[in-house]
Amino acid sequence: MALRNILKDNDPALLKKSREVKDFNKRLHVLLDDMRETLIDANGLGLAAPQVGVLRRAVLIVDTSIETDETAEPEEQYKPQIVELVNPEITAKSGEQSGTEGCLSVPGVYGLVVRPDFVKVRAQDRFGMSFEIWGKGLTARALCHEIDHLDGIMFTTLAERYLTEEEVEAYALEHSEESEDEDASTDGQEF
Ligand code: ZN
Repeated sequence: MALRNILKDNDPALLKKSREVKDFNKRLHVLLDDMRETLIDANGLGLAAPQVGVLRRAVLIVDTSIETDETAEPEEQYKPQIVELVNPEITAKSGEQSGTEGCLSVPGVYGLVVRPDFVKVRAQDRFGMSFEIWGKGLTARALCHEIDHLDGIMFTTLAERYLTEEEVEAYALEHSEESEDEDASTDGQEF
C-alpha cells in the first residue's frame, strides 16, 4: 500500500465527472488499498477516487454508526469501519440536517451544509458484488459528500455560509453537549 497525494481545490480534476468502474481487477484493489491508507493518514471520514486524481466512481467512507465493542480491550474498542463503495448510487433519502462540513481537498475551510438525515445507497464491493448500505447523521453526510465528488461537486458550492475557526469550535462543543456524542469534535469532520 502507498499513500496517495490528495488533490487540493484548485485542481481541475476535482470538478470532473468520474467514470463507472467496469473492471474489478488488481488495479482497482491497489487503488482502494492506497485510498484506505491515505484516508487513515489524513484522519478523514471519507475519500473519493477523484481526490487522489483517479476519475473512477469509487469512494471510501468511515461508518461512524457502527457500535463499539465494549467487551474488547480498550485499544481495540474503537476501530473505524471503512466501507468501500464502487459505483455508488443514492436510492433513497429522507429528513434534513444542517451541520459543519469540511473536505480533505479544501483544508481548514468549514461550511454549514444541509444534507439528508438518512440515505440508502446501492453500490458494488471490490469484487463487483452489489450491496446496500444505510446511513444516518454523520454517515449520511459522508455518503452524500463522497458521491458528490464523483460528479465533480464540491461542498463549497453547497455551503450556506462558511464558518470561522471560533464558530467551528463553538458549534462542535454545543453539539457534543446536546448529543453527548464524543465524536462531535471537528477533528475528522473532513471528507
Ligand atoms: Zn471532500
